[in-house]
Amino acid sequence: MDLTEAHRLLFCDEPAYPLNAAAPPIFQTSLFTFDSYQDMAAVYAGEQRLVYTRGDNPTVQVFEELVARLEGADAGRGFASGMAAITATVMAFVSGGDRLVTVCNVYGDAYKMFEKLLRPAGVTIDYVDGSDPEAVARALPGAKMLYVETPTTLTFDLQHLPTLAALAQQHGVVTAIDNSWATPLYQNPIAHGIDLVIHAASKYLGGYSDTVAGVVVGRQDLIDRINGRTYPYLGAKLSPFDAFLLVRGLRSLTLRMPVHMSSGLTIARRLRDHAEVTSVLHPAFSSHPGRETLSGYGGVFSFLVSDAIDVPAFADALRLIRLGVSWGGPESLLVPLSVTAGMPPAPNPFVHFGISDRMIRLNVGLEPVDAIWSDLEQALTVARR
Ligand SMILES: *Cc1c(COP(=O)(O)O)cnc(C)c1O
Repeated sequence: MDLTEAHRLLFCDEPAYPLNAAAPPIFQTSLFTFDSYQDMAAVYAGEQRLVYTRGDNPTVQVFEELVARLEGADAGRGFASGMAAITATVMAFVSGGDRLVTVCNVYGDAYKMFEKLLRPAGVTIDYVDGSDPEAVARALPGAKMLYVETPTTLTFDLQHLPTLAALAQQHGVVTAIDNSWATPLYQNPIAHGIDLVIHAASKYLGGYSDTVAGVVVGRQDLIDRINGRTYPYLGAKLSPFDAFLLVRGLRSLTLRMPVHMSSGLTIARRLRDHAEVTSVLHPAFSSHPGRETLSGYGGVFSFLVSDAIDVPAFADALRLIRLGVSWGGPESLLVPLSVTAGMPPAPNPFVHFGISDRMIRLNVGLEPVDAIWSDLEQALTVARR
């Protein structure tokens, strides 16, 4: 999306907040009272109004509305985490006896939710190579939902959204995407025919490593289905204070993302030219047609180091970049995948854990790019055996 347009959506026709406040007030209340018996009875007869914060809250609604606007959706629903958004979305459309089709290498905990929550509840789960439309087409007939993530977590494989969305439509299959990496600035899946767009708002939307939250946006009838079937009962609502932090984060999205993108590309290119780096998994280096729907890039990617690098020594030699999970905040963070070696083996082969003990995921933060590069370069030198 054009940055000027994104800025307009975020600021110019901003909802008028009470008392003309420039920032949304935090409605830190669990409930909203009624003026009369009549008013209360009207709600039970179907009238829409604020009742209880596990349902709707005005501060949360501001966040939901802003993300819906950015993604070109009718409506949105915020959640206490990205995982809550994924779980409530998938479970609103898929239940016991149904079939879910998902691409391989989705976010690890989404995969575990499919395996630990849905499979025991009687859902069939088919994993397909999302980069291969024929494989997806073969899996779709009879499925209830196609769940995608492009680029995928850790491996950064791409899918071609217009093709997958058209195939799913032919078979009457609802589509959902985890769009956390690209953000609405750099990929608008609804414009390519995808039905529901999920974000781990803990990452780029929040942007400051201070909030865990999630959101799903889409057509009104699909959000209504989530509101009617899962959202109130799973109970993982977004708090008013966290919604306030997310709105604050969104206000700098158009400034932060171009820096994450350009610093990420600079570091990825320099790593690609480094003698001890054997490959860099960044969508910019892919020739897959799935690249067409990305108008920009997040600053998170993976790289593999040669056998000459002692990975624990490399991690311990870093001075600026810190070791830590999550991503999307201002600080550069790194995960050497070899730390997952102690995990029990995956119940099936469609996960990325243990892909390679040479693999390292990097979140390129907002520090000066040369400082990030110097740190990587010195740590690679120290760790050469
Ligand atoms: C972190 C993450 C999630 C989950 O978000 P939480 O807020 O941690 O529950 C989902 N998808 C992707 C791609 C993520 O990186």
